[in-house]
Amino acid sequence: MNILVINAGSSSLKYQLIDIVTEKVIAKGLCERVGSKDSFHKHGIDEDEVVIDTFLPDHKAAIEVVLRSLVEGPRAPIHSVSEIDAVGHRIVQGGAYFNQSVVITPDVKDKILELAELAPLHNLSALQGIKACEEVLPDRLQVAVFDTAFFQTLPPKAYMYPIPYELYQKYGIRKYGAHGTSHRYIASRAAELLGEPLSELKMITCHLGNGCSVSAIDHGVAVDTSMGLTPLDGLMMGTRSGAIDPAIVPFLMDHEGLSTQDVSDLLNKQSGLLGISGISNDMRTVQEAAQEGNERALLAYDMYANSVKKYIGQYMAVMAGVDVIVLTGGIGENSSIIRRLIFAGMQPMGIVVDSSKNEQRGFERLISHDKSKVRIIVVPTNEELMIARDTYALVHKSSQIVPYKG
Ligand code: AMP
Repeated sequence: MNILVINAGSSSLKYQLIDIVTEKVIAKGLCERVGSKDSFHKHGIDEDEVVIDTFLPDHKAAIEVVLRSLVEGPRAPIHSVSEIDAVGHRIVQGGAYFNQSVVITPDVKDKILELAELAPLHNLSALQGIKACEEVLPDRLQVAVFDTAFFQTLPPKAYMYPIPYELYQKYGIRKYGAHGTSHRYIASRAAELLGEPLSELKMITCHLGNGCSVSAIDHGVAVDTSMGLTPLDGLMMGTRSGAIDPAIVPFLMDHEGLSTQDVSDLLNKQSGLLGISGISNDMRTVQEAAQEGNERALLAYDMYANSVKKYIGQYMAVMAGVDVIVLTGGIGENSSIIRRLIFAGMQPMGIVVDSSKNEQRGFERLISHDKSKVRIIVVPTNEELMIARDTYALVHKSSQIVPYKG
């Protein structure tokens, strides 16, 4: 049974076709710059990849190109689109409506549209992706998997902001979190690798990529997370500031004459590693500059590691301890320097990194020292697999699907 996983961004569309029985990716690719004249389509696995310049005026055109590449040409993994059994869509904002993945109905689409106010670029592109798939694959089940759903278990004391309560009632201003599919995957995978039930562990999961977030997962239940109403809150990121004193916003508007859009751009696109280093939002580039002695680059990565360290401390306090810390994302998986800085000096809290294991490259691995009370584990995330699994589970429950019979 093949599940097509679609992750539609504002001008991009990523996809994977996953054989859910073996959980193998049988095709993947990406459409970039959708809507612009220089759009292109990348299709293939690892080295066996082709890049085709092709005009993609909208997401429907992108879906059509994707489906064609799945059934035509030397890299086509299937013969006909009828071999696609269902489609799973990544949706960034599910608000308080969705605490789990759901089959897409007209009502679900209305809610995704309504919630676009909280994630305008993402939810509207996802809707375009859904509509395009519905047109091209009208008889296939479409499933929505929300980044926020995993955090619907947060207690009110964690998700409410200390601003007038009426604003929560009027606008739904509260913490929703983000990256939930990733946190859910790495938590369950870490438990599986350790051979212990998730329901018996206190975990802190760190998704450290271009966007960054940390979550507290107490006996399998998410109890806090660093991203908030939007993915701007929490940790310092590539171009996002993360949490700052909110008084900085009116100060900048007054003193720099910034509009709401300007200040939003400044905090979302010009801050974080980029804003401090003045060099790049990319950790590799910042690290290289720091190694050459660039002081602002050094400051940027010191601040970055410190912001992760502080969240780990907070969440240890929230859960009265931690058994396992899980790291993922481009930085969490690859940067031994950042990992060393995050955990430096935490020995009194029972957290000790094994320096030689920390330097090793590879995939899923334990990097804590044998004498560390807290296990630290690196687990590459796999949101697409999680989306495919959820889609498959809903397909099973539904009678609408007619599985392909080879
Ligand atoms: P992601 O969004 O998960 O793809 O992560 C992107 C971030 O991971 C960027 O800041 C990259 O610079 C960073 N990254 C990827 N590989 C490395 C590496 N080997 N060392 C340090 N940072 C890395």
